[in-house]
Amino acid sequence: MTFRHLFGARRSRQSVDIRSKDYFDQQEGVTTVQFPKEKMPIPEVARYQLDVEIDDCIVCDLCAKACPVDCITIEAIKSPEAIGKTSDGSVKRLYAAQFDIDMAKCMYCGLCTVVCPTECITMTNQYDRSTTQLTDLIYGFGEMSDTEIAQRKAEWTKHQAEKEAAKKK
Ligand code: SF4
Ligand code: SF4
Repeated sequence: MTFRHLFGARRSRQSVDIRSKDYFDQQEGVTTVQFPKEKMPIPEVARYQLDVEIDDCIVCDLCAKACPVDCITIEAIKSPEAIGKTSDGSVKRLYAAQFDIDMAKCMYCGLCTVVCPTECITMTNQYDRSTTQLTDLIYGFGEMSDTEIAQRKAEWTKHQAEKEAAKKK
């Protein structure tokens, strides 16, 4: 047995896809996969880090409401008129001033991806972003600058004021 392990130590184990019928077969070799140089294949339905295609987001807040651990923070700014369309044709009426996901709190349940009407929040195959700073795991997907946010808020306030004034006439 010692000699078997001695010779086996010259080989490392193979990276086998979990969907392979040989997945549970005993492999020769004693060392594990040499991560990060080698990586195990991951299943297509695996739940890993989230990504948001912000251009396709209608800022409906459904993902944040569905999240059991409140790790999605969204701040929306209303627009007086439609601001564009997503790739599936949904009309966008809100700007995303903030769209943050705290991956340090996320429990990878995938609920946010299920409720999204435009399927713009998805789980990627990214699982190895380690860091020593927890705050690095707050991913910001919003793309608006502070100036643009202030401008859009001012536009909405002006629109509301004009509506109120028109009602009083
Ligand atoms: S995967 Fe679950 S815990 Fe993570 S952000 Fe989405 S809903 Fe929240
Ligand atoms: S559910 Fe989808 S469309 Fe709605 S805010 Fe979340 S990511 Fe955007």
